[in-house]
Amino acid sequence: LFVTFEGLDGSGKTTQIRKLSAWLEQRGVEFVVTRQPGGTETGDRIRKLLLDSKSVGLAPRAELAMMFADRAQAIREVIEPALEAGKVVVCDRFTDSTEAYQGGGRELGSDLVLELHRLICGDLIPDLTLLLLPDLAASLKRARRRNDKHTAKTGTDESRFEREQDAFFERVHAKYEEIAVREPLRVIVVDGDLDIEAVHERVITAVSARLEA
Ligand code: C5P
Ligand code: MG
Repeated sequence: LFVTFEGLDGSGKTTQIRKLSAWLEQRGVEFVVTRQPGGTETGDRIRKLLLDSKSVGLAPRAELAMMFADRAQAIREVIEPALEAGKVVVCDRFTDSTEAYQGGGRELGSDLVLELHRLICGDLIPDLTLLLLPDLAASLKRARRRNDKHTAKTGTDESRFEREQDAFFERVHAKYEEIAVREPLRVIVVDGDLDIEAVHERVITAVSARLEA
């Protein structure tokens, strides 16, 4: 079972993945948690390049290609072996993020992203995607506060994406909504403004249904 979490920065993905992991653990389900970009040694290096504020001027298509380079590595090293071993794979972001951020945010369009997905990832598509969609302004505030804290402590951005204008995130948000409408069976939208326990309840309801299927 391949489960992905999607949503804007500050939407609570990390918290929910931690809670889902504890739930799977308790039930004795074998699982692997990973994230994109990152999740492999090569991927972590790609992630650093992507998020570094010094990567200013990185061409949108270069950014896009790096996201898929990271993904190709993660599929071969982590995702495919785990799925083949019958484990549940929980991934923090996958191609929907690329469609939302590079396709929507960077305005490269969905077609280019989906075509690259097909060429590089083949028919690997999540069985279930939990899309956390909180109020846009609230999640932006959370993400920027976190980034500012990180900057105060380390002198660098947590992610250069946090410096983008509101319009960028509005496009990301809109693209996520578009994906949810296009693929209602795979993508479960969870109102990210619910409290942590209520979101977790919805997450485990969706995951349980797929585990039993
Ligand atoms: O969710 P996570 O903290 O791992 O994301 C790292 C950063 O990369 C975030 O600022 C996110 O907005 C950005 N990102 C992106 N395009 C992607 C995936 C992540 O801009 N396809
Ligand atoms: Mg983040």
